[in-house]
Amino acid sequence: MNQRFVDLHCDTLVTLRLENCTLENAPGHISLDRLTDGGALLQCFAAFIPTHDCAEGLGIRENAWDFFRQQAERFASMCAQCGDRLAPVKSMADLERNRAAGRVSALLTVEDGVGVEGKLSRLKTMYELGVRLITLTWNYENCFGYPNSPDPALHAKGLKDFGLEALDEMAKLGIVADVSHLSEGGFWDVARESKKPFVASHSCARALCDHSRNLTDAQLRALGDAGGVCGVNFYSKFLRENAEHTENADILRHMAYIADRAGIEAVALGSDFDGIDCTLELENYGGLPRLGEQIADRFGSDTADKICSGNALRVLRDLEVHKVHLRKSAFIRTQIFSGSALAELCGIALKEDSTAPRFQSGIGAPCRVDKTGCLFRLPGELDKGRLIAQGGQDRVQQIVPCDAQRAGVVAGVHADGVLRQQIPVHEQADLVLVIVHKAQYAHGAGREIQVP
Ligand SMILES: [Zn+2]
Repeated sequence: MNQRFVDLHCDTLVTLRLENCTLENAPGHISLDRLTDGGALLQCFAAFIPTHDCAEGLGIRENAWDFFRQQAERFASMCAQCGDRLAPVKSMADLERNRAAGRVSALLTVEDGVGVEGKLSRLKTMYELGVRLITLTWNYENCFGYPNSPDPALHAKGLKDFGLEALDEMAKLGIVADVSHLSEGGFWDVARESKKPFVASHSCARALCDHSRNLTDAQLRALGDAGGVCGVNFYSKFLRENAEHTENADILRHMAYIADRAGIEAVALGSDFDGIDCTLELENYGGLPRLGEQIADRFGSDTADKICSGNALRVLRDLEVHKVHLRKSAFIRTQIFSGSALAELCGIALKEDSTAPRFQSGIGAPCRVDKTGCLFRLPGELDKGRLIAQGGQDRVQQIVPCDAQRAGVVAGVHADGVLRQQIPVHEQADLVLVIVHKAQYAHGAGREIQVP
């Protein structure tokens, strides 16, 4: 049994600084040997940015942005020191190269967007340094919004205006929004506004363990509908109230529950290794193969592959969907865009024109997108596909198969969010776009449509 793992969150980078050690001799849950022996395919290393009393407690005096830059440098030097055994990734192509070369992939993420300090340009800098996921808040208010809280009034607070703007910028750049630690109000803003699947990188199910860091059933459903994942956190107190020790059975219980509410495609791993102080049955990263076996026993080996790696990789792959064509396969993943998101993606002006004609076809036809975004054509590279859709104010009335070499077909989702039709897809298609009503476009994301 050779299960490979993608873990969406660990705090090992900050441990390296605090313990003044390297990944080779790291004393915590994660070390280079533990990753390679444990079957790591991709480890997300969070540049955690301590602030307030947390920074004080740890003796950290740098400002948030400087501390992030230091952590990014630490990440780079850590990767350089690991030689042939571990290498950084900025793309799925990097990951495939590392996989082929037998190396563990390391992805830089950020925990607490506080270092952005209300400056959109810093997101670009983070992206260039390899950041592909940002946990919008930690346990304090920042420029994005507010943290989770047992206080209902604070927990209900949404994203700030800058947070909404940053969310758009992150989707454009290709950075996943992570709602772990975020207020519930912020969560719903992300669920409504994010143009890409989002994640809760290290959270559990609130119905099983009542902690404001965990997600309610409604949140889990919305996360699954958006094509995102919840990385199950291994912290005992998020798995079982007041527990001091994490049993593998607790982790499995949350996985099964999340699968039931959000769909099996929404379950992933978010260990929080080196950020949790409980004892664990699996002890450290070296215990993952045993957990992988138990996941396979419980869910079957195909599903175990999804939980242990496939689901998380899908979200990262979706980040790049506007840059590369998906590989052709028997199943074609759908990518859900609202009309305005698609218009932006294609660099076309959105015309809020209720008199927009209801049907157009043929390359070169002028594009018009009405408010619900159901009518457009795609210019540029996808235009090779003569990708034409037809729609109306609140529903798409007809599916127009394209005669593409490469691109797919567009289908519609009614304003109620239901994907109604089995969609005829051109057999050469390698990308399918599904256009939905703006208010509902999160629904149905990530579904697979069988090629007829
Ligand atoms: Zn955390």
